[in-house]
Amino acid sequence: MTKSQTRLHALSFDVEEYFQVANFASHFARDQWHTVEPRLDVGMDAILRALERHRARATFFFLGWIAERHPQMVRRCLDGGHEIASHGYEHAFLQHLGPEGLVRDLDRTEEALMAAGAPRPRGFRASTFTLTRNTFWAFDELVRRGYRYDSSVHPIRHPTYGVPDFEPGISRVERAGGSIVEFPVTTVRALGRNLPAGGGGYFRLLPGAVTRAAVAHCESKGRPACIYLHPWEFDPHQPRVEAKASARFRHYVNLDRTLSRLEALLGRFAFAGLEEVLEREGALSKRTG
Ligand SMILES: [Zn+2]
Repeated sequence: MTKSQTRLHALSFDVEEYFQVANFASHFARDQWHTVEPRLDVGMDAILRALERHRARATFFFLGWIAERHPQMVRRCLDGGHEIASHGYEHAFLQHLGPEGLVRDLDRTEEALMAAGAPRPRGFRASTFTLTRNTFWAFDELVRRGYRYDSSVHPIRHPTYGVPDFEPGISRVERAGGSIVEFPVTTVRALGRNLPAGGGGYFRLLPGAVTRAAVAHCESKGRPACIYLHPWEFDPHQPRVEAKASARFRHYVNLDRTLSRLEALLGRFAFAGLEEVLEREGALSKRTG
């Protein structure tokens, strides 16, 4: 199969450590993160090499906390031609931050990214898809700060996040102060509802063919897919956390297959960062300068 050259799909990585995931929040107190041995390099090495091999580009949504401690990793992504965007400072949920907390969180993240050499971020993805109907005020702050796009709404039904009736493709969200493009991670429509197909745990749990079929489906409909993964998903030898069985399963299932599955996707489809894809699709105007 030759790689599709007609359509660019969006690829993204939420740059956080295994000890910062919501799934393990009760095992790693926020104020103890600095005491845990970093594993970031393992996953980032695997990702960046795979992207280079396949001449693919991606968006890296960095936590500000990570950018402060690993500025060389921000620069390495920039040197590879990738987009740097914001994943918030320390993986706090929007509903816990509140509108004022989000201002501080975005300030700190932007400062950390720019101190590491990145341009002011133009894209945002909230921790754990916590941009829901209850936190739509976050759009106002993103618009006010001049963000061009957001990728925080997951248009699925889920116990802790999701906006099931949200437009699953690219859309423009109109707010009183202006508008912003929303580019959600990919879902597939089945049984009358949107099901997650854009990455994370489902990428590892389901056979690789499922994700490839989802991207192929988007392509057949003339739409770009939006895939997301994390560096820790490319680190099969990371330390094991004694969490409850369901959390362990979700975090550790098929970690040794993530890289080969990503390579299979990269071999078949063309990928770029979200901003580039949105420009290509005409959802954002081409930036000059
Ligand atoms: Zn995250």
